[in-house]
Amino acid sequence: MRKKKGKDRKKPICSFCGKTAADVAKMVTGPDVHICSECAEQIEEIGNTSTEPKSKCSFCGKKADQVEGLLSTSSSDAYICTKCLKLVQDVLAEDANRKASKDEQLGTPMRRRLFTPGPTPVPERIALAMAHPIIHHRAPEFEELFVEVNEGLKYLFRTQNDVFTLTASGTGAMEAAVVNTLSAGDRVLVIRGGKFGERWAELCEAYGVEIVSIEVEWGHAVDPDEIARTLEADPEIKAVLATQSETSTGVLHDIETIRERMCGHPALLIVDAVSGMTANPLEFDRWELDILVTGSQKGLMLPPGLAFICLSDRAWAASERSDLPKYYWDLAKARTSLTKRQTPYTPAVSLLVGLREALAMIREEGLENVWSRHARYGRVVRSAVSALGLKLFARAPSNVLTIAEVPEEIDGKALVSRLRSTYGVTITGGQDRLSGKVFRISHLGYVDDFDLLAAISSLERVLADLGWTFEPGTGVAALQRAFMRNTK
Ligand SMILES: *Cc1c(COP(=O)(O)O)cnc(C)c1O
Repeated sequence: MRKKKGKDRKKPICSFCGKTAADVAKMVTGPDVHICSECAEQIEEIGNTSTEPKSKCSFCGKKADQVEGLLSTSSSDAYICTKCLKLVQDVLAEDANRKASKDEQLGTPMRRRLFTPGPTPVPERIALAMAHPIIHHRAPEFEELFVEVNEGLKYLFRTQNDVFTLTASGTGAMEAAVVNTLSAGDRVLVIRGGKFGERWAELCEAYGVEIVSIEVEWGHAVDPDEIARTLEADPEIKAVLATQSETSTGVLHDIETIRERMCGHPALLIVDAVSGMTANPLEFDRWELDILVTGSQKGLMLPPGLAFICLSDRAWAASERSDLPKYYWDLAKARTSLTKRQTPYTPAVSLLVGLREALAMIREEGLENVWSRHARYGRVVRSAVSALGLKLFARAPSNVLTIAEVPEEIDGKALVSRLRSTYGVTITGGQDRLSGKVFRISHLGYVDDFDLLAAISSLERVLADLGWTFEPGTGVAALQRAFMRNTK
């Protein structure tokens, strides 16, 4: 070993023997140090101590009497001090770790699992239906399909009114709700308190609709009485824009009670149930909602690309007065086309074919059973996460997903990315102000007991990797116990 500092990263030179990368089998690089594979081997068997005051550390150049200890291998007359040795060992260990985790990734045939609140896993039955040759949207075959899915959507929305299918993600239906019923300068009440509440506000602002806000603390549900008080003080408010299940905070807002507390105020109640529908009870007619929107890639178990919207008679009456600009989102056109079993523009035909299967699956299970399955999943996942010593984020939890706070000593972003890269499990981190602070496990849609065991088991693995202390199996056991207790 010879002293030579290989700091030039482009042409690394071994910090000990001075050989270049081209002359050695492998060069390991760390901060301020390069070690060739030959020297790395020698370092592993290091052990002889020098007491000769003139011998120096090959790395830092300090003499024997200036350092704690000076060591060398039996085959070498060069020395390294204990401090530099520690540094070099760390670099080598880090390199070995990187290699091990790469092998882990390459060695395991990884089955990918989605626990995200959109898109959600697509059942085989739906995927296979969508693989059939495409049909034409003006052919009788399409009309038959369209009538069938429209009936199924009424069942899902619990309404006698028509439900319209738009070719868009969920936000398209939110935009359609605003532009079809409001006018520039109208004042509306927006329930904030999460990313999707914010979306209603941004949408209204984009169209010149004036906003009155109720700021809800993230993680909490809105107090319906506060809505009542705000409306009472302002009879001019034209609509209340709410979110049933706020996917960014995991909170369920109590839409039924909000409607009750609005007692006779003329404002429309417009509800984003993009993630909430199928996971939490929702009744369009019985709760007298005015507009309800949802999307395909959440509880409906479809790929992204469809949005759905239902309007009450009061909302249709408001649409007569609405002066906001609209063309693609003009629902009057969709209403006219519907009487001819058509859509105004080319619909996403393949997704509609998938939708027929999705709605059939929901009918076969029974919507109430779908709701209670999600309620059970919400309960059991929350109990498993708590059993691992993690804190739940939502005070009024929705059954769509479970949000846990990331403990201070853990890197929240690493948790999410390592779950995906090492275990094939995709969950989501926090959005906006919750970025890095929480992680979100969805149990929405096509999910069963054993999927959830995989979710909690992989969570345990990654928590252990990141240094969280708990008895392995605690979360999985909590899940099993909860499953065995709540068989229904
Ligand atoms: C997913 C989601 C939306 C819509 O998002 P898109 O990306 O446009 O489909 C809206 N609101 C909530 C609560 C959601 O979870």
